[in-house]
Amino acid sequence: MLCDAHVHLKNLLELEPDAETTRRRLGIAAAASAWNRAEFAFHRELAAAAKRDNAPPLFLCFAVHPQLPGNLAGKAAGADCAAIHDSAAIRDSAVALAEYAAAGELAAIGETGFDLFDESYRATEAEQDRLFALHLDAALRYGLPLVLHVRRAMHKIFPHTGALKKLPAVVFHSWPGSPDEGFSILRRGINAFFSFGTTILLNHKNAIRSCAAFPAERLLFETDAPFQPLRGKRYSSFEDLPAVIRAAAAIRCPDAAAESPEPERLGGAAFYRVFCP
Ligand SMILES: [Zn+2]
Repeated sequence: MLCDAHVHLKNLLELEPDAETTRRRLGIAAAASAWNRAEFAFHRELAAAAKRDNAPPLFLCFAVHPQLPGNLAGKAAGADCAAIHDSAAIRDSAVALAEYAAAGELAAIGETGFDLFDESYRATEAEQDRLFALHLDAALRYGLPLVLHVRRAMHKIFPHTGALKKLPAVVFHSWPGSPDEGFSILRRGINAFFSFGTTILLNHKNAIRSCAAFPAERLLFETDAPFQPLRGKRYSSFEDLPAVIRAAAAIRCPDAAAESPEPERLGGAAFYRVFCP
C-alpha cells in the first residue's frame, strides 16, 4: 500500500471532487490535516466511510497552520488556501484541538511550526510562537506525534529539542533542511521522520541530497495536495504520489531495476509507525 504522510484532503476535494475515489483506487493510506471544525468533521466522515468499506485508511491530524495568522493579516498564501481566516476561528480551533485530542480522535497534531518565508509571515512570528507552544503542549499531554511545517525557520526547532525528544514521533513535512541538519536532529535523540513530496521531482537540491542520505526507515512521502503542484499543474494530487516514491527509489538506488518492488515499500513502514503505532 502507498502512503501519503501529508494531505489537505478537504482543500483537494474542492479542486478535484473525485479525489477520494482516486485515493481508494490507487490504494493510498493517508494522513489528512485539518485546521478548523468543518474540515475536521469532513475528514472524520471520510475516515469512517473508508473503515466501513475496508478501503485504505485515513488518519486524522489537526492544528492551526503557521501561515494562517499571516493570511489573516491580509496575505493571500500561494494557493487560495481555505476560506476565511479570522482570529475568532483560530481561537476556536485551539479549543477544538483539545477536544479531539482528549477524545482520542487524533493520529497526530499538525501541521504546526514556523513560516518565516517573507515579511508578511515574519510579522506574525509571535503569533506562530504562541500557536506552536499550544500545539507542542497538547502533543506532550496526549502523547501524540507532531507534524511540522518549517520554512526558513530551522533555527526555531533546535531550542525545542528537550520537548520534541519526549514525543512519540516528529514528522518534518516537505523536509526543508540539509542532510546535516537532519542528522543533527536525529543525533539529539528526536524520533524524527523526514517527509518528501514533489520537491524531489522539482530538482530541489537539499531535498534530493537528504532523500538519498537518510536511513530508509526515517523516510515518508507526501503530496501536500493540493498545495505542491508540479510544473505546469494547478495543484498536486494523489496521482503524484507514485511518481514521488519512484523518484525517491531512483535517487537512493539509481541502478535498481524499474520493476523492483522496493518503491512500493519505501515510506510504508515509517508511515504506520508514526500514525498507527
Ligand atoms: Zn500542508
